[in-house]
Formats: sequence, structure tokens, C-alpha cells
Amino acid sequence: MLGTSTIMTFQDGFEQKWLSAIGLLFVVPPWVWMAVRTTYSLQFVTAHKVPFPTRTIRLMKVLALIVGAGGVFGAAIELGMQWYLALLPAGTVVFFSLKERVREIVPSKPVQDAAAYQSSWKQYRTLRSAYTRSFIWLGVAFLSAILILTLADKIPDPIGTVIFDLCLVGVLVSLAMTGVRQLKFFRWPCPRCGCAFNGVWNRPWFAKKCVYCGLPRDASTASPTSEDLIKYS
Ligand SMILES: [Zn+2]
Repeated sequence: MLGTSTIMTFQDGFEQKWLSAIGLLFVVPPWVWMAVRTTYSLQFVTAHKVPFPTRTIRLMKVLALIVGAGGVFGAAIELGMQWYLALLPAGTVVFFSLKERVREIVPSKPVQDAAAYQSSWKQYRTLRSAYTRSFIWLGVAFLSAILILTLADKIPDPIGTVIFDLCLVGVLVSLAMTGVRQLKFFRWPCPRCGCAFNGVWNRPWFAKKCVYCGLPRDASTASPTSEDLIKYS
């Protein structure tokens, strides 16, 4: 009896160890990537639409390095490495992270002409209404699910369950849809400076002018007319 329980504990401990190691292997790589290629990863995450000064990039690098290299060290220990051997992979991450030459991120400036502005604003309005609509769908799906839940006793079981499941799928699908549309809308580049018009920190309201260069919404050219300025002052 004693022998079996010892084996069980050993097996459990072994499995737990591997599970946590695998967990770490999922979490750590993005941080290591961020630490080693900070400039590129920031550009990738923001779709090249957000400017970053070198100071911010360095700060992000330090943060990613602490989490990334720390995670690699932890994973190596978890897999049964001695601490001085675990320092090796962690040290490699530090080495390659410090090797990267950090440079300022400046989004490329789009072509400046009236037609480009026009099509740009058209795209802005399309993305914005798609984003707003996805919220309405999310609300409808959510309210329907709640309604079905409150009416649960009155609806015969198989039908009620199916309707509820459908509502749940609806909520999940519209949640995913809202996320994708939000990403698209908030990465939409300003036609004058090429940066994300709404800024890096998504605000719940729609910005009236570009967060980075101050271009008023719906301005017809690069230099806002006096009418534009009165409208948005
Ligand atoms: Zn701008």
C-alpha cells in the first residue's frame, strides 16, 4: 500500500513538473521574442502605425528581458537543470537582447493628395460603422442569452437548451468579431502623419483629431482649412 502511494506521488509530481514546464514554454517565448527583437515586435503588434521613442523601446526591452530571461531560467530549473546550468540559456537571451540596436519607430508618411484623403476618410467611416455595429450585435446576443436564462423554466427543455447554446455561440462570435474590428479601426492610419489616428491607448470615444499630428477628422487636405479649425476647436 505504502509503495503504491509513493509511486502515485512521484508520478503526480513528475506530471505536475512537466505541465508547469510546458505552461512556461507557452508563456515565455513571446517575452523572449519581445526582449530580443523589441523594435520589430512593437512594430508588429502595432502594425507599424504607432511611433515609439527609443526611451520607451528600451524600457519595454528591460521589462521583456526580466520576464523572458527569468522565465527561461525558471523553465530550465523546472526541467531539472542545476541553477548554474540554467543560467546559460537565460544568459543567451540577455546576450542577444542587448545586441539589438534599438532605433526610434516612425511610421511612414502616406502620399499627400486630396484623392488619397478622400478614400482614407471613406475607409475610416466604413471601419468605424463596422466597429459600432459589432457592438450592437454583441449587445443583442448578450441580452438574448439573459432573456433565455430567465425564461428557462417556461421553455420545454431540449428547445430551451438549443436556443441558449445558440445565444452563447452568438455572444462568442460577436465578441471575436468586435475584437477584430476594434483592432482594424484603432490601427487605421491618419492620412497626414501615417500614425494610428486614435492613438495607442484605445479610448472608448472616437477621437475628433489625430492624437499624433492634430489633423481634424474629415479634413480634406493636409493643412486644415479655417472652417475645419472652427469646427473642432
Ligand atoms: Zn496624424
